Amino acid sequence: MQSFNPIRMVMLGAPGAGKGTLSRRLLAKISRLSSISTGDLLRAQIAKNTDIGKTASGYIKSGKLLPDTFMANLLTAELSKKNWLNEKASFLLDGFPRTAGQAEQLSKALNPHKANINLVLELDVPPEVILDRIANRWIHPGSERVYNLRYNPPKVPFKDDVTGEPLAKRADDNPETFKVRLSQYFEELKPIKQFYAKEGVLRTVSGETSDIIFPKMLKLVEDEFERH
Ligand code: AMP
Repeated sequence: MQSFNPIRMVMLGAPGAGKGTLSRRLLAKISRLSSISTGDLLRAQIAKNTDIGKTASGYIKSGKLLPDTFMANLLTAELSKKNWLNEKASFLLDGFPRTAGQAEQLSKALNPHKANINLVLELDVPPEVILDRIANRWIHPGSERVYNLRYNPPKVPFKDDVTGEPLAKRADDNPETFKVRLSQYFEELKPIKQFYAKEGVLRTVSGETSDIIFPKMLKLVEDEFERH
């Protein structure tokens, strides 16, 4: 089995760029890497109808970002709960940070543990490809497994491969909300990239599909972190 130095990684990508799919594939290859998706965390809170869920649902429905401090607290609490606030843990953050403010707050939380982010991977996927993909995206609500009717269809139409349960559209994948989410992403991207470029940890991988991006991404991670 391969051995890796601690990986503390952020994945940046527009909604629909394949963050979820690519992180699942990376996790399957690198066994000691685990991930946190802030979108999944929020959706779980909504499903449980908690106070956090109640706050989150209005923002998510309209495609807006939740406030930085709220999100930074949520993420830091999760890192702490998983015992990942230390220099030995490896983790991948999917969907956080979404703003430079969040990047700064994350850095402040990790710094005292000498556990700063050491790889920021930007997924660069053309916007027209993303729009087409979202129109075809269906999910299994219980597991967040993602299907694409064109590129990655379920074995039985509109049924989850593992449980056989019906697939659904994500509530925030409708065209109006999606436009808001996409333009917000590109607005926030530049300052986040500046923040991490200054730290020397920013890398970009381009491609139209996850099958094209994944091998590049895996090689990059292996080259940076594999113990020789
Ligand atoms: P995602 O599943 O990552 O696309 O996130 C779905 C929605 O959750 C986003 O459109 C936001 O409303 C909210 N959200 C998730 N992560 C964050 C974050 N880091 N900051 C603010 N809002 C977030």
